[in-house]
Order: sequence, then structure tokens, then C-alpha cells
Amino acid sequence: TRADINYFGAGPALLPTEVLEDAAKALVNYNDTGLGIAEHSHRSEIATTIINEAKADLASYLDIPDNYEILFMQGGGSGEFSATAYNLVGAWVARKHKELGSEDSSAEKLKSAVKNLKLDYIITGGWSKKAAAEAERLFGSEHVNIVADSRKSNDGKFGTIPEESTWNLSKDAAMVYYCDNETVDGVEFPQFPKSLEPKGDDGPIVVADMSSNILSRKIPIQNFSAIFFGAQKNLGSTGITVVIIKKSLLPQPSVALMKQLGLPIPPRILEYEAIAKSNSLYNTLSIFDVYIAGRVLKKLLQQYPDKVQGQQAVSESKAQLIYSALEAHPSVYKIVPDKTVRSRMNICFRIQGSDAAEQNFLKQAATLGLTGLKGHRDVGGIRASNYNSVSVDGAKKLASFIGTFASQGG
Ligand code: PMP
Repeated sequence: TRADINYFGAGPALLPTEVLEDAAKALVNYNDTGLGIAEHSHRSEIATTIINEAKADLASYLDIPDNYEILFMQGGGSGEFSATAYNLVGAWVARKHKELGSEDSSAEKLKSAVKNLKLDYIITGGWSKKAAAEAERLFGSEHVNIVADSRKSNDGKFGTIPEESTWNLSKDAAMVYYCDNETVDGVEFPQFPKSLEPKGDDGPIVVADMSSNILSRKIPIQNFSAIFFGAQKNLGSTGITVVIIKKSLLPQPSVALMKQLGLPIPPRILEYEAIAKSNSLYNTLSIFDVYIAGRVLKKLLQQYPDKVQGQQAVSESKAQLIYSALEAHPSVYKIVPDKTVRSRMNICFRIQGSDAAEQNFLKQAATLGLTGLKGHRDVGGIRASNYNSVSVDGAKKLASFIGTFASQGG
């Protein structure tokens, strides 16, 4: 049964059982309306209330200030690789256009500014690598600057974050992009990078992918221009992607201007301004997924009076339990990333010796109900994803099994 399983899958992830039980009822008959939540119109008052409450609860939990907009979008984290690039290039052009004015002579100046347009990417794992590759597809590699690539100083492998002093940041980038927690490689930024701290009113423009560590620690929202994450790991069910964006970055230049400059414009469905103007209802949104996210947030708010800081303490202690168990047996386990950048969310390790030992570990773990531990297909090994819904008890059981397996000789 469900109670026998402790699931450590990387996403979709566990959801609280009470939320799923309520959702099962809501799917059949929402609040005695005789219709299920997935059947009600996304334009109904019911849907609007669900959206607005989820936004307010997320803002409260993460302490998101009023100068930020919260958007529910579709297309997953991967859709945001394109959306961030399109929208922040648009915002950069809008800003330059305003600075230069609209006289005829400014058109040439704007064109020459666009020649130097740069999108900056810090590559620390598979997901930031994919995001940078998408920007190259959309804008051309001449416009993409790789600020740092952790594989370069680590034998071609991910597992570190290059020293900030080695970063090659552009002077006036449309955005600097990084992935706060690399799900596949188990690398997490220990804190907000010093060199990206705000300088004056307008820079740098910082965008972060927090798909796999949102709601697990306090974040200095004001340092970010935009943050995005799919719901399916720490928030809710697969199907919605959340964007938190500074309102001042929403306005996009005219289509005519972008065409004149030879720059692409986003499909409307990826345009933050359009989604913001319609309160996330530009088209049919899965209200069911927003409902699930909303229920999870209400539960978190009830559980943790000090909000995300409460969850942060629990996440850290669960991660500590698992890492300590691994560290106790260095001849059996090898933790993949560098100690200073270890993810609290995706704990990646190898079993020294052979693939067969890893297979054996997974098999024995499964007999104890510890599942979802297989590493990503690109890198292999073992990965324990320690998202919000993994219980302290589940983490303890895994830590204990890690110890038992090692004492049996691995
Ligand atoms: N970014 C990160 C950090 C991820 O972990 C994932 C998915 N695991 C993605 C982006 C892509 O998300 P999606 O599958 O929702 O497109």
C-alpha cells in the first residue's frame, strides 16, 4: 500500500496523501457543486478564487513582494528555457528603446546595440546546459555567452560550481541565467552568487531555474528578475509551471520593432505580459493542478508558522541524515558532487566497485519500500530525491538502509 512506500523519485514526486484524498473527492464533486474541479470552466468564479488564493499563499510562504507578478503557465521547465530568453530579450530591447528615444537616428543606434546583445548562462549541470542550448537555437550562438562551465575544471564532468572570480559576465546582458539546483547532477548553489547582487536599479537581470529546490529554503526574491519552476517536485502535480517575475520587466516592445531589429518574438502563449494581463488565463489552464498546488501551500502554511524557513530546517536535517550515512562508509559510497555544492534535494552517489552493486542496492532498497532511487539515465548511479513530501521518517529509513547495506559489504 501507499503507507509501505517511501518514494525518492526525482519528479513527478510524492504528494501529501491528505491532499490527494481531498483531490480525489474534488475531481468527482467539487464543494458540492455536482461537477468536478477538472470540469468547471477556467473562467468561472471557482477557478479565479483557486488561482488567486494559490498566488496569495505562494507570496506569503516565500515572502514575494508586490512588485513581482506570479504566473501559472504550461510547457514545463523546458518551455521556460525559451520563455525566459524571448521575454528578457524583449525587456532589454524595450529598455534600450526607451533610453535611446524614438528619433530616426536612434534606430541605427538600437540596431548596433542589438549586435552586442548577450544572454549569459552559468552552466553547472544538465539543465542549465539545455537552457543555454535552447537560447543558441533561438538567438544564435553569437548572442549566448557561457559565463562559466563547471565541466571545464572538473575532467569534463559536472559536480562543482566554478569560483566566481573566474566568471566571464557580459557588461550589459539581457539576462544572467543559472539553475539553482541541478536535479540530474546533484549540484546546488549554496547561496545567492555575490557577483550577481543588485547594482543600482537596473542590473544585473538575474533569472533562476528553481524547478527542483523551490519551497525548500528562503530566497532573496528582490535579487532576482525572474524565477521559474515546474510544480511537479516540491509544489504539486505535473501540468503547471510557475513564474515569479518583476513587474517592471513585463512590457514587450512592438512586434514591428522586433522585426525591424531582426529579433524573434515569443509565441503568445510564452509571453509573460500576455499571461500576466489575463491573470494566467490567456488560454485554458489546468485548474486542477493549481488546486493541488494551492492545497499543498495551505498545508505548508499551517505546518510551518515561520513559513519557508520551517521547511528549510526540515530539508536540511533530512539531507544531513542521508549524507552522514553515506560519509560513514567511504569505501562503499562515493558522493558525486563536491562537498561545498551538494544538493539538499537530489542526493547523487555511486557505489564503488561495480554496476552490479548498484543494481543490488536498488533491489534491496525496493524490498524495504524505498523506491525511485535510480540515477538519471544520462549519468547512472543512485539518486535520492529529498523533496518536501519525503518524510523525516522516510529519510531515516533510507539512511539506516545505507548503513546496513554497507556493513553487509556493499
Ligand atoms: N529544470 C530542472 C532543474 C529540472 O529538474 C527539470 C525537470 N526535471 C526541468 C528543468 C525540465 O522540466 P519539465 O520536464 O517540466 O520541462
